Amino acid sequence: MAAQLLDGKALAEKIKKDLNREIEEMKAKNIVPSLTAVQVGENPASAMYVKNQKKNCEGMGIDYKLEQLGDNTTEEELIKFIEKLNNDTLVNGIILQMPLPEQIDARRVQMLIAPGKDVEAMNPANMGMLVYGNPQIAPCTAMGALELLKSSGVELKGKEVTIVGHSEIVGKPLVLLLLASLTESPTPTVCHIATKDLAFHTKRADILIVAAGKAGLIKGDMIKEGAIVIDIGINRVPALDENGNAILNDKGKPKKKTIGDVVFDEAVQKASYISPVPGGVGPLTVTMLMRNTIEACKLQNK
Ligand code: NAD
Repeated sequence: MAAQLLDGKALAEKIKKDLNREIEEMKAKNIVPSLTAVQVGENPASAMYVKNQKKNCEGMGIDYKLEQLGDNTTEEELIKFIEKLNNDTLVNGIILQMPLPEQIDARRVQMLIAPGKDVEAMNPANMGMLVYGNPQIAPCTAMGALELLKSSGVELKGKEVTIVGHSEIVGKPLVLLLLASLTESPTPTVCHIATKDLAFHTKRADILIVAAGKAGLIKGDMIKEGAIVIDIGINRVPALDENGNAILNDKGKPKKKTIGDVVFDEAVQKASYISPVPGGVGPLTVTMLMRNTIEACKLQNK
């Protein structure tokens, strides 16, 4: 039987409705949450995320400001700029768009965003709270994936969870979020590029969460019957017709489409629940950014 879809768009709308109520309550007290995005130089991927942030903020009544700094901005200049935002009481949340130009050490700058304004939770103070199991602000994609997983209604306690990918923004924070409860947690296993037998770990997972950025990495025969599959991967690949030929756009260039890391058509036959790409974790990432901004605003207006 085909798996049930975990609809990220619908869940994002539901969460946004609750957040809207919180924003209305804040506005009644003359408080308007605000998010400032800092972009250094030009990058198409980051430009798309910025557009999405703006649309979401405007739709929810969160003040959104984009600060664009030149490609040649030095690390010291960027740090000064971040410090200015840290001290600006009208700025509740700060997001530093990635990637940064090569002359800037992203980690050093992220560490200097005030923890209470760090809506991507990349500051070690927020990462540390994640280890303590009670974060007020946590990394957006990891939280989004967990929200989508929980929307299945399946109990997580004691389940075997395999996470493929151990990045700082997805895999590692996700493990910590899954282990937040002392008594109700599942049992996570984390796989990565150096894992010897990936299929061994994926096949024993009741819950499989994939964030590797490798199209086609997880095939149907690597999935346990009845597993829940959350695909976080985003890959742009050529769109092909039924004969395997490239589909061209109006300008005669090969069209591209977005797919995840899981071979969806195979996985959907094995899983009990599956998240699609696009329309799965993606819409929740930006929703969690909105939630973190509201959380940050609440922290600052205690
Ligand atoms: P990353 O490159 O920082 O990390 C990739 C991880 O996958 C690493 O831990 C690496 O060891 C592991 N990996 C790579 N190839 C592997 C293989 N063959 N077998 C096992 N493990 C392997 O990437 P990231 O920033 O964590 O992003 C991962 C994917 O998630 C990307 O496709 C990215 O676009 C996507 N993503 C989606 C969202 C969203 O909102 N949906 C947000 C962030 C990232």
